[in-house]
Amino acid sequence: MEIGVLALQGDFAEHLSILTQIGVKGREIRLPEQLEGLDGLIIPGGESTTIGKMAVDFGLIEPLQQFGLKKAIWGTCAGAILLSKDVHGKQPLLGLMDITVARNAFGRQVDSFEIDLSAPFLEVQDGEAKPYRAVFIRAPIIESVYGRAEVLLKVPHGQIVAAKQGRLLATSFHPELTEDDRFHSYFLELTR
Ligand code: GLN
Repeated sequence: MEIGVLALQGDFAEHLSILTQIGVKGREIRLPEQLEGLDGLIIPGGESTTIGKMAVDFGLIEPLQQFGLKKAIWGTCAGAILLSKDVHGKQPLLGLMDITVARNAFGRQVDSFEIDLSAPFLEVQDGEAKPYRAVFIRAPIIESVYGRAEVLLKVPHGQIVAAKQGRLLATSFHPELTEDDRFHSYFLELTR
């Protein structure tokens, strides 16, 4: 089992350290040929326009799209934006998931916040009902989920913050910035 983490910009190092923490081999990915042999890929949080432009420059857009047709990809925050088909603006996207995303949608006053979410699909792993504390930083909202995508999590006000489409996973928040590795374990299940 080997998981790649797209390492163009953003908090890829944090994802790699959680992978190490749960005993999974992680690898930094910057070039198309490095995708070879991976079981799954994580696109980290950061700045989606920067990651997208660099992905274009490194010739990664099409290889990533091809990868996503066969293998698992998880995008956190900026990564979720890149997985989407539409962000109401022009920027490079992979367009793999049937979701429309609104960037920075929680507003300036709440630049970042944390909230407990009930995530039964994670809780079964522990055998006890434990909420998941999600960390949001200038987070996008998943505005609509259609086609083959499904809603995974909403915040109490009703905005969608996690969606799934087969082996593709998008979260508005940052599991890589917490001690809780349950979301990473959940992603590993999607790679199998
Ligand atoms: N606001 C960033 C964007 O639109 C995402 C923020 C993040 O990844 N923490 O790309």
